[in-house]
Amino acid sequence: MIAMEEKVVGASGQSLGGEIVERINALAAISEAPDNITRIFLTPEHRAAAELIVGWMQAAGMRARIDAIGNVCGRYEGDQPGLPCLMLGSHYDTVRDAGRWDGPLGVITAISCVGDLNRRGLRLPFAIEIAAFADEEGVRFASTLLGSRAVAGTFVESVLGGRDKAGISMREAMITFGLDPDHVGAAARAPGELLAYLELHIEQGPVLEAQKLPVGVVTAISGATRLAVELHGTAGHAGTVPMAMRRDALVGAAECIVAIEEFCQSDRGGLVGTVGYINAMPGATNVIPGLVSFTMDIRSPKDSYRKLAITDMVREIESIAKARKLDLQINITHENRTVPCAPWLQKQIADAITAEGYRAFELPSGAGHDGMAMTDIADVAMLFVRCRGGISHNPAEHVEDADVEVGARVLLRVIENFKPKA
Ligand SMILES: [Zn+2]
Repeated sequence: MIAMEEKVVGASGQSLGGEIVERINALAAISEAPDNITRIFLTPEHRAAAELIVGWMQAAGMRARIDAIGNVCGRYEGDQPGLPCLMLGSHYDTVRDAGRWDGPLGVITAISCVGDLNRRGLRLPFAIEIAAFADEEGVRFASTLLGSRAVAGTFVESVLGGRDKAGISMREAMITFGLDPDHVGAAARAPGELLAYLELHIEQGPVLEAQKLPVGVVTAISGATRLAVELHGTAGHAGTVPMAMRRDALVGAAECIVAIEEFCQSDRGGLVGTVGYINAMPGATNVIPGLVSFTMDIRSPKDSYRKLAITDMVREIESIAKARKLDLQINITHENRTVPCAPWLQKQIADAITAEGYRAFELPSGAGHDGMAMTDIADVAMLFVRCRGGISHNPAEHVEDADVEVGARVLLRVIENFKPKA
């Protein structure tokens, strides 16, 4: 295995990884904060990053432009002009205090792959486009995937009225940036223009590292359901109410949380469940908690399966509440469907991984990605690259140079051997 891990130079004998890492660092230097990476939609840093990416695309032999929502779009013609494209992409906005790889690795690797084709004078029987999406994380306005939704033609106009923490609406921010909020529709692409959408991204989880593999084939972007749970008991004096006479909402919640964990742990279908927020009222040392609210985040790569699991978990929570004489309220606050990666594209990625000398390992994506929007106009697929410790959305996010190189070699191989769906 070690010999394979060191295999970072491909058929052309040239390393792409060095150029990619250099550019990752150049993009990471564009931040609104002096001591961390924060690059938010429709800010001066967004502008500076877009201009840098335009320059890299042009150097790779592409025509590049900033579209109606601030995405950077590049096009490398095929062996004749005007052909439908294989679209590669990812995002270049970040969360606050971000890592440098989440998003940019996919954009920059795609540009380096096209640059490699261009240096060799290679034109393919299809065009290649790269979409560098301006907003995936949704940090500024309370809606995610704004860049890819605009390209997919599913951008919702009402989002323009949303305001950031400073009270600036998205409409105003677009005008300040130099974009016309009444023409976001111009960013939309027609389904017939795309042969497929393919995204390379860091895994943001620890599975590839545990498998000792640099890359993996994504099977689906897991759907997610979020629920808000409220347990109502009776607040009371911590000294005077005997144990047997209490309706303690917090102890009830604790039992529910453990039950959720046990349910997901015993599952074999890739189900993951998280209680990430809890609040106990009135929240005093000497008062029995009378009201507790907590959230549930449940994900799985199969929608029907996730729904069944949620029904079972809700039933269990109901029986815990009943046994403890607590009143219960559960609401679904958010739901998004699973986006399966197209099997015909997964196969081409798997073949490229195998050809580079690695096992083609399959895994679902527990995190959301631009493919969730792009699926509305094209078949989508993803290639994951291992990141250290599975850490992401964190300055400690890291990808080894050798893995950057493997990701690039695999992506280049997928592009060169790409066959549109028969
Ligand atoms: Zn991302």
